[in-house]
Amino acid sequence: MSVSNLDTWRDLPAAQQPDWPDRGELDKVVAELQTLPPLVFAGECDQLKGAMAAVARGEAFVLQGGDCAETFAGATAENVRNKLKTLLQMAIVLTYAGRVPVVKIGRVAGQFAKPRSKPNETRDGVELPAYRGDMVNGFDFTPEARRPDPARLLRAYHSSAVTLNLARAFTKGGYADLRQVHAWNQDFVAESPAGRRYEQLAREIDQALAFMRACGAEPEEFHTVEFYSSHEALILDYDRALTRIDSRTGLPYDVSAHMVWIGERTRQLDGAHVEFFSRIRNPIGVKLGPTTTPEEAIALIEKLNPDNEPGRLTFISRMGAGRVRDALPTLVEKVRASGANVAWICDPMHGNTFEAPSGHKTRRLDDVLDEVAGFFEVHHALGTHPGGIHIEFTGDDVTECVGGGHEIAESDLALRYETACDPRLNRGQSLDLAFQVAELYRS
Ligand code: PEP
Ligand code: MN
Repeated sequence: MSVSNLDTWRDLPAAQQPDWPDRGELDKVVAELQTLPPLVFAGECDQLKGAMAAVARGEAFVLQGGDCAETFAGATAENVRNKLKTLLQMAIVLTYAGRVPVVKIGRVAGQFAKPRSKPNETRDGVELPAYRGDMVNGFDFTPEARRPDPARLLRAYHSSAVTLNLARAFTKGGYADLRQVHAWNQDFVAESPAGRRYEQLAREIDQALAFMRACGAEPEEFHTVEFYSSHEALILDYDRALTRIDSRTGLPYDVSAHMVWIGERTRQLDGAHVEFFSRIRNPIGVKLGPTTTPEEAIALIEKLNPDNEPGRLTFISRMGAGRVRDALPTLVEKVRASGANVAWICDPMHGNTFEAPSGHKTRRLDDVLDEVAGFFEVHHALGTHPGGIHIEFTGDDVTECVGGGHEIAESDLALRYETACDPRLNRGQSLDLAFQVAELYRS
């Protein structure tokens, strides 16, 4: 494939792109990005593709999650460790209680750009460009901060590199060893019902490990985990600049992350995002909201996975708790009837957002759980595989979503509302969710 094929998207409408004030600046930054080393290797992307093929066959379950929007300031050791710790805890709950191998994918190390429902934001009569993620502009409501700045693309690259380096060290350097199951729960156990429930499970795992060691079994898999990065590839100039030809195969990969996905707002069949994604060889996802027609889903499959390669394409449904049981069955049924190889995973966050009286954007944990339950019901009824969940969470004790073991009320939201975009589950709520999903998986 010639490199120019990677630029066919430039002739098509690209939704949600920043209005860069200075194209010359952008060109300079893109030229620099093109010289920088890959953040991930094509071989690792293929390995994830293999894991996603197992998910599509019904042999594994995906846990994909992290911030709605990462920030540059958030790329600290403590932050990344807390997020990973929570993800590892959720994964162990799913593996042990759900009895299923878990594919762990972070919304990390690149999740810096956000699609917005309105291009501008108005406060007290002042109108400024909307915040589009740290990759594009600043969160502060000032004209300087909100001006799109191409230099931020470079910062996004470096921040991704730092985060991925930490994630690799944590997951390969002993921290993810199964003998650490208790350590991940320290500072949490006594305070929360989910923490106590986890501690009980960790004790059972300890016993199982002691038994296996006594039998002489000490498998390599117990000491490290495979962890993958992902983000919404929204800003095409960035992801294009980080697309490289794999020296092994001569094929192009977006080496800014192992997996990239197309959001609900940019999945137009004749749009630039779908065109760009059709050219790269990573495992990819597409978000499907409640208005998606079966014809659109099939056309996306034909465009994005014409060879029906296993593990290549994942549909991430985000219907809303009230819609999932009506809107999802026809899609799944028609896709199955087409013979297409896809993995289905459930994003129970984005269809369940509402504004609390205080003005905070929030979600109810009960709605999140209900959408996941609906997703499982639909797949069980059709005999297809509920392949995973895609969530927004943080390892910190924020108060952004309501409900859960600590019963966060709408009036508590202001206590610790820190997200740069959508409301995230906190650590206790995330663990609660993992326990419930494990039960659904086994039933
Ligand atoms: C997101 O994942 O943060 C997002 C914007 O989702 P969606 O594209 O499903 O609306
Ligand atoms: Mn979001």
